[in-house]
Amino acid sequence: MRIKVNAVTDNATFPEEVDVVVIGGGIIGTSVTYELAKRGVSVALFEKGVIGGEQSGRNWGWVRQQNRDLYELPMAMRSLQRWEELGKETGLDLGFRRHGIAYGTLNEADLAKWEAWGAQAKQLGFVSHLLTASEAQQRIGDRLPWLGGVWSPTDGRAEPSMAAPAIATGAQQRGAFIHQHCAVRGLDISAGRVSGVWTERGLVKTNRVICCGGAWSSRFCKQYGIELPSANILGTAFKTTAAPEVLNGCLSTPNLCIRRRLDGSYTVAIPGRGRLNLAPQNIRYAAKFYPMYRSNIAKQLKVRLNGSFFSGPEAAGTWSNDQVSPFEKIRVLDPAPDKQILREALQTLVELFPDLKGIAIDHAWGGWIDTTPDLVPVIDEMDNVPGLFIAAGFSGHGFGIGPGAGELCGQILTNSRPYTDVTPYRLARFAKGNAIREPQMM
Ligand SMILES: Cc1cc2nc3c(=O)[nH]c(=O)nc-3n(C[C@H](O)[C@H](O)[C@H](O)COP(=O)(O)OP(=O)(O)OC[C@H]3O[C@@H](n4cnc5c(N)ncnc54)[C@H](O)[C@@H]3O)c2cc1C
Repeated sequence: MRIKVNAVTDNATFPEEVDVVVIGGGIIGTSVTYELAKRGVSVALFEKGVIGGEQSGRNWGWVRQQNRDLYELPMAMRSLQRWEELGKETGLDLGFRRHGIAYGTLNEADLAKWEAWGAQAKQLGFVSHLLTASEAQQRIGDRLPWLGGVWSPTDGRAEPSMAAPAIATGAQQRGAFIHQHCAVRGLDISAGRVSGVWTERGLVKTNRVICCGGAWSSRFCKQYGIELPSANILGTAFKTTAAPEVLNGCLSTPNLCIRRRLDGSYTVAIPGRGRLNLAPQNIRYAAKFYPMYRSNIAKQLKVRLNGSFFSGPEAAGTWSNDQVSPFEKIRVLDPAPDKQILREALQTLVELFPDLKGIAIDHAWGGWIDTTPDLVPVIDEMDNVPGLFIAAGFSGHGFGIGPGAGELCGQILTNSRPYTDVTPYRLARFAKGNAIREPQMM
């Protein structure tokens, strides 16, 4: 595994029956489990690999409200609050620090976009500050002739290696079962509704299951006739060697994203660059992604044909619950990073921050990002399989909203009043005949 995440110890006993089963131990699954355990619900989380082993341990660590799709902003704002509270409630360090996020630009159109977004966000209660050219130079440095930027002081950063493991541990302390190296192969269905899950260790009875399987969710759901349009996009990032502090939060420029880490190094990447594998799932849903592929967001995507056509999260093929499933065959998705991105990002980093001369790549990694056609997640109960819920498709920005999404799912699963309107997250928006909204995230 190219990344390091804090280890979580499994429970000694394996449950026979629980109120809710959570599939997947990323930031979403662990947050849902925590929120349920906190409410006294009996809950078990099953993870095919290790907690935080896929996207949630591989991301840049940005905890962001700024530039979100406005549909997500209430959840992002609630999340920031939960990040702070979770550290206190669990007594564990999630690596969360509120050091703000800055964006810099050389392009007038970005400034106009941020200004318009900021006016709408303000109505929802979120305040950020447009930066003039000189303010941007002060905050970001003067190596490029910045036209301006935007600064959100209430945003933050957290450590992907620490967050999901800490939340899982917090859930365990409140009575949740956590079992790793234990894939959920499929659902047990009786009288038309969920009655349990088949894990690789046998049947666990339950009448509520939430699939938080990240890049694997669409393939899992397909077994039950559920069309969850998802494309997995490869992101590349690296950790630097320890280096002087040139910023203590996060910075995005057109060619570089950088975050200060707790250990005195940086996580670095290039925004908007990625790769898509030509695989059965992507072909099946290609038409639904048309608005995204023609938007600016997808301009820098490469497409490749490789082994993922036949195995992995986007392949075709079914299995039965007494067979080894695709989830057990790949315990942790661990794609190789794109070397060209690594070279370019390191060079841009030193050009932007000459004080970092001599900095090197400590280690680099790739991560498959599960993306929906409008870049908004799906959080919903499935009509055709009562008792099955989905929380997936967080589209490259689910780490920051993980705790807020977890709380929302906890409310939905316990039939409590959700703190925000869940209509934008319904799966039905992608149903046949519905026009798909162009991505609004900036
Ligand atoms: C390079 C990169 C940079 C990113 N940067 C940011 C950022 O700065 N800020 C931000 O907010 N977001 C960012 N993201 C996105 C963010 O990481 C994801 O949106 C978020 O982590 C998704 O969490 P998740 O729990 O849904 O999925 P995951 O973390 O992928 O977890 C899903 C888990 O489910 C398990 N699983 C799947 N199927 C089964 C099964 N059948 N049985 C048992 N277990 C199963 C998997 O093994 C996996 O561990 C980035 C992502 C990447 C890859």
